[in-house]
Amino acid sequence: MNKETTQLVETLLASPQKAVIIGHKNPDGDAIGSCLGLSFFLKKIGHSAAVVMPNDFPDFLKWLPGVEEVVIYEKETEKSTQLIEEASLIFTLDFNSLERVGELQQILESADAKFIMIDHHQQPADYAVATFSDVTMSSTSEMVYHFMDALGHSEILSEAIAINLYTGIMTDTGSFRFSSTSPTTHRVAAKLIEAGADSALINQNVYDTNSPDRMKLLGLALSNLHILPEYRTAYITMSQKELDAHNFKKGDTEGFVNYALSLQGVVFAVIFIENKQESIVKISFRSKGEFSVNAFARNHYSGGGHNNAAGGKSSQSLNKTISEFISILPRYKDELAHA
Ligand code: 5GP
Ligand code: MN
Repeated sequence: MNKETTQLVETLLASPQKAVIIGHKNPDGDAIGSCLGLSFFLKKIGHSAAVVMPNDFPDFLKWLPGVEEVVIYEKETEKSTQLIEEASLIFTLDFNSLERVGELQQILESADAKFIMIDHHQQPADYAVATFSDVTMSSTSEMVYHFMDALGHSEILSEAIAINLYTGIMTDTGSFRFSSTSPTTHRVAAKLIEAGADSALINQNVYDTNSPDRMKLLGLALSNLHILPEYRTAYITMSQKELDAHNFKKGDTEGFVNYALSLQGVVFAVIFIENKQESIVKISFRSKGEFSVNAFARNHYSGGGHNNAAGGKSSQSLNKTISEFISILPRYKDELAHA
């Protein structure tokens, strides 16, 4: 965080504010963890704070401290709109462009509040008076810790803040595996553990709560795995029919794409998930090494993200989406061979 922006935020927080904190659509562990962590922090230093999410989030995050206070726009549209209209400060966390919040975009664009962005995605948009963007960061949750620290408040870390931030860091780093995990990430995690984040318990709550339906869906996903050795690529497909047959719930396919990436020699992994309700195929991209899935998702699937993890969508049928994907790969053959 640079000095000027930090000073600006200090000025903004010098008097009590009505803050609203917004995460991205289909919020993940980092979105929920960073927003709740920041919310507890802002309240602790004398502001009012509310967390608004565009839509619901998976059950494996519903044990987090403060989760009952999250307002979901899709369920509580009026309340969310009113909170945003009455806010004096709006924090946008874990996304880089207002297009990432779905229908909330219009409401945010007409809000009177000043915006503060905290985010680690590539190519941040320029809508905030204070932008904390650092694409080298493991997670937005790690950035919230640095934000508190820069404001001179890291000592007031409560257990609730620590648990939320630890969960965000843990989920966004694939349990401290991805290359974005730095020595500083581990130092921050250590501080969070000292402040009351119980690592074993958090791991259990997030990863050991599978339903039998979800395990069977994973089995199906693995049997739908296709490997394209000439492109060092593997992909998984999930049709709406297959999801329905396993009582699909939000979050059930989380992490499936990593199984494709775990194949020896594979550097590019993709999962295509049909969503008939929205008439799209939602796509998750993962890579190892140099191959930028952020660029790939931007170029072909109106998406984006990070170099090694990105998402996008297609409005074609599932079959058409897959055949188009395969037809694009030859253009990347060299890049994939040297990734
Ligand atoms: P996931 O595949 O887990 O949904 O997302 C991987 C990363 O890409 C996350 O950082 C997420 O925020 C980002 N991402 C996912 N979908 C989209 C999208 O449609 N557009 C953009 N710009 N980013 C996305
Ligand atoms: Mn994140």
